[in-house]
Amino acid sequence: MASWKTHNCNSCDYSFVGSGKPDALMMGPTIPVICSGCNVIYDRITHSPIGAELDRSCEECDSEEFIPWDYMAKKCPQCEDGIIGESDEGVIVMAD
Ligand SMILES: [Zn+2]
Ligand SMILES: [Zn+2]
Repeated sequence: MASWKTHNCNSCDYSFVGSGKPDALMMGPTIPVICSGCNVIYDRITHSPIGAELDRSCEECDSEEFIPWDYMAKKCPQCEDGIIGESDEGVIVMAD
């Protein structure tokens, strides 16, 4: 079980809902990645301990190309100097 929060950029209006850090869903461990197709951050399952087929592509553009997001630096993928932060009033979804 993982809790997903709303994350907002402090410089542009980009936001995403996700764990924003390495986490684990029922399907397996996830890492935050940036989609190479549309520059959005999403949680990608790295491998499945139960051998399930991993077809978690970007929900926005269906691209399976991605680069790992530097969740320590928290740089916004959509603007130059934006930093992504967790929103206090963000939605918290239990994802499994
Ligand atoms: Zn930004
Ligand atoms: Zn995409």
